[in-house]
Amino acid sequence: MSDKTCVFCRIIAGEIPAQKVYEDSELIAFRDINPVAPVHILVVPRRHIPRLTDCGENDAPLLGRLQLASSAIAKGQGLEWFRTVYNCGEGAGQSVWHIHLHLLGGRRLTWPPG
Ligand code: 5GP
Ligand code: ZN
Repeated sequence: MSDKTCVFCRIIAGEIPAQKVYEDSELIAFRDINPVAPVHILVVPRRHIPRLTDCGENDAPLLGRLQLASSAIAKGQGLEWFRTVYNCGEGAGQSVWHIHLHLLGGRRLTWPPG
């Protein structure tokens, strides 16, 4: 299931250090190495899924828990407002091919994103 060439699989395996803020049997959340906001956390399923469009009906509970975990983490970080976003595909800015939700906060966020 895990991909030895995938940086997030390697973080999940403990081979690359990360600043973890949450983990359970299905998910892990850690601070982005190159934050674009004062709070920039990546919420990641332990299972290697390259793109959001690879998810099917069976993944609905996982995606729901991922979204709920992100809002619980935001609350735990004391964020008054925040944004959650998936980049899906190269043109949308995806650079790591293991799905992850970006949790951004700690500054005013403009809309639309660039
Ligand atoms: P994407 O561009 O795929 O939506 O987001 C990938 C994110 O992963 C980027 O914001 C990037 O800074 C972050 N990232 C890439 N490699 C590492 C790493 O080794 N550790 C951590 N903590 N974040 C990483
Ligand atoms: Zn992976």
